[in-house]
Amino acid sequence: MNPPMVPWINPHFAPDNELMSALRKILRSGRVTNNGPMVAAFESAAAKFLGVEEVIAVSNGSDALLLSAYALGGKGRAILPSFTFMATLSAVVHNGLIPVFCDVEPDRWTMSPRHLETLLRKTKDVALIVPVNSFGVPPDLPSILSLASSAGAKVLYDDAHGFGSKISGFARCPGVAVRIISLHATKVLPAVEGGLIICEDRTLAKRIRQLRSHGLAVPLEKSLPGFNARMDELRAAVGLHSLRGFRQTMTRRRRYAQRLRAYIEDHFRGVFINQQIPPEVESNYTNLAIRIPAAEKIGIDAVIAQFQKSGVETRRYFYPALHQFECFRERRPTALPVTERLALSLFCLPLHSLMKEKDLRRIESALRDVRRMVSS
Ligand SMILES: *Cc1c(COP(=O)(O)O)cnc(C)c1O
Repeated sequence: MNPPMVPWINPHFAPDNELMSALRKILRSGRVTNNGPMVAAFESAAAKFLGVEEVIAVSNGSDALLLSAYALGGKGRAILPSFTFMATLSAVVHNGLIPVFCDVEPDRWTMSPRHLETLLRKTKDVALIVPVNSFGVPPDLPSILSLASSAGAKVLYDDAHGFGSKISGFARCPGVAVRIISLHATKVLPAVEGGLIICEDRTLAKRIRQLRSHGLAVPLEKSLPGFNARMDELRAAVGLHSLRGFRQTMTRRRRYAQRLRAYIEDHFRGVFINQQIPPEVESNYTNLAIRIPAAEKIGIDAVIAQFQKSGVETRRYFYPALHQFECFRERRPTALPVTERLALSLFCLPLHSLMKEKDLRRIESALRDVRRMVSS
């Protein structure tokens, strides 16, 4: 019998007595939601970790985007990468903004400031720019912020992948109006489902808190139409538990990612291509994405099937790119050559903090099998 596949992802909850007794206590108390003490404790622990004044915990990363784009307001167009997840686009479209797709940088795989500059030159009414963290690597925020400021556009940073990534040693992103993080089970700080909003403007942060809970205010007459984007007490307890173990799980995740990246660099240069991590960036390695240029010819499904045969589960990311969805085909924008190439040749290898030496060896051996296949 074949050994089980190395899974692509494996959320690490490690339910110990502390977590189980917290969950029991919440359920026994009957105080299970509506901004209770566990949410408050989780918010202040996350804020401390990120080095910011406050964070706002919400139901999930997608609601965080939707609510943030709403709170930022603005009418007209929003520029976002096409190389991202549907949720980035939904937040823009459901707020009545017209999406304009930007290409990504060929090595870093995040929003291209060069293309952004071109788009800003020929696009009127850009209200919002939504750069995205790809697999743990943040985009070139200083360049994007400066272009946004010249264009009078606000920046909503989709940092769904980014909890624990650092730029120049810092976990905070100064100058970004609003930033969101996902706590989904497939991300590095799982709360089952959940999200964080970081907004350093106190007035705007207060408005986001109000909108999170139906827009209710004190006195009630001052309420506005809002959302229900609350996090509940149970998931806040899970999030807090994940945060307590975060440094440890991150140390392991980082070690495995760096080992596999070095193996790829040493043995398969030019055949498999690692994501470029700029020197000022410390990645949290949300995903271990690689590009296999040969897949553009032989087809990525054939490559995935070979990995599968070698016992390793992999995923295409992001495919299709947003501008390739049928709902956009008719008014397909200018070609996005880098994005289109990535959609045909990029995917994620398994990476999680529960991997064993034998899993790492299986991945290395699968890489050798795939190299043989693509070179023959
Ligand atoms: C996961 C993800 C989201 C959405 O987060 P959820 O918590 O799953 O709703 C948004 N943007 C990107 C880039 C993501 O990967």
